Amino acid sequence: MRVRIEPRDECLGDAICADECPEVFVINDEDGLAMVIKESPDESLREAVQSAADECPAEIIIIEED
Ligand code: SF4
Repeated sequence: MRVRIEPRDECLGDAICADECPEVFVINDEDGLAMVIKESPDESLREAVQSAADECPAEIIIIEED
């Protein structure tokens, strides 16, 4: 699985994704927007990544299969 946030400038900075899956998503200190810190997370994180995508109010978390 590959994860990205796009378009990132539509991020609301509410940190829902970072709360759901901190291994993959963090809020960038400089611009206050979410960023992906692990683009190819382990399958064990799939449920958490999917929850983040489902709950993202901006619907900008994209999950693709390798
Ligand atoms: S859940 Fe969506 S809108 Fe909220 S911080 Fe994460 S990427 Fe941004």
